Amino acid sequence: MPVGGGAPVSVQSMTTTKTADSEATITQIYALAAAGADIVRCTCNEPAAAEGLARIVPRSPVPIIADIHFHHEMALAALEAGVHGLRLNPGNLRKEHEIKQVASEAKDRGVPIRIGVNAGSLHPDLYKRFGGATPEALVESARMELAYFEDVGFDDVKISVKASSVPLMIEAYRLASETFDHPLHLGVTEAGPPPGGLIKGTAGIATLLAEGIGDTIRYSLTADPVEEARAGRQLLEALGLRERKGLDLIACPSCGRAEIDVIAVAKAAQQALEERKLPIQVAVMGCVVNGPGEAREADLGIAAGRRRGHLFIKGTIVRVVPEDEMVDALVAEAERLVAEGIDARLAAADAGAAAEAEADRRDLLAGKGVDANASEERIELIRKKYGNHAEG
Ligand code: SF4
Repeated sequence: MPVGGGAPVSVQSMTTTKTADSEATITQIYALAAAGADIVRCTCNEPAAAEGLARIVPRSPVPIIADIHFHHEMALAALEAGVHGLRLNPGNLRKEHEIKQVASEAKDRGVPIRIGVNAGSLHPDLYKRFGGATPEALVESARMELAYFEDVGFDDVKISVKASSVPLMIEAYRLASETFDHPLHLGVTEAGPPPGGLIKGTAGIATLLAEGIGDTIRYSLTADPVEEARAGRQLLEALGLRERKGLDLIACPSCGRAEIDVIAVAKAAQQALEERKLPIQVAVMGCVVNGPGEAREADLGIAAGRRRGHLFIKGTIVRVVPEDEMVDALVAEAERLVAEGIDARLAAADAGAAAEAEADRRDLLAGKGVDANASEERIELIRKKYGNHAEG
């Protein structure tokens, strides 16, 4: 898994199992890889964890990185276990000769190291010197560690300067990208549970990626790490930095024109299409007045009109189906579309579908369609029941 040097941005996550429990850990690694993780990190905090790594590494579908804090012996043990990478925290692994010993050993084995600076565990001297965990302090911590590595001729390094504050993290990475030529690992640390954690992670990571900064990313969520891996993958796909592997569902936010319960239909469609792992873009639109036009770039879509669903491919109506068959029809067409291709499915469009759809659309535009919110009836009812209750 190349990182940096123009390689596609990769997704990382971290196991939450005890690394010593190699069976549970390998199960979680497989789940993370299936959700989109390219690289997985496991803590190596005790000799039993290093033993676990020796069992995990040969069975893992993705490269394994050992996460090291405080004890440089655990870095050496992890190298012995055959890990593909190390992460060292310069804030709590501070002895120069120990750091150099690890770097020399990693160099001999051709194993890269991430210098993982964290605002929350910054070296106390730097905290004092810079008056806090400033962007300059975080970058200086990485620079000092890098200088130790360079002393022993080791340069196979990634750098991270994470913080739980998004503005601080953004500034620190901007400074790091000006200071270092090394690949950068992006993350907002301790972002918390979703949805807040996802928003914080995305705010920091996406801002930097959009500026061309960052080579590998990790969401740090207080959640099942599968959510981290999924979010990382989805972010890269949304930014066009990785090829789409799964479904991309577009759905309108719904509004007063909606002819269906857009939220329920979008959820049902998402669940059914994700289960089938179809790599296409699908749109669910609440009305036919704007739906097919606005979602014309989608491979496939459905829009609601007069209790019927208009199924469209690249904006062209191919079938009109009853409302209660909308999701089933969408899923069936999605499967055929992936199997047969867009041109074949456009050629197989129902004759007359476009004309039927156009009639629905005109009716709705003319205000002759079903009033989904039943406003007129409700107003009539209010007038009847409460019309005589005016104040005074
Ligand atoms: S597609 Fe129709 S229902 Fe959905 S937001 Fe647009 S106008 Fe409203």
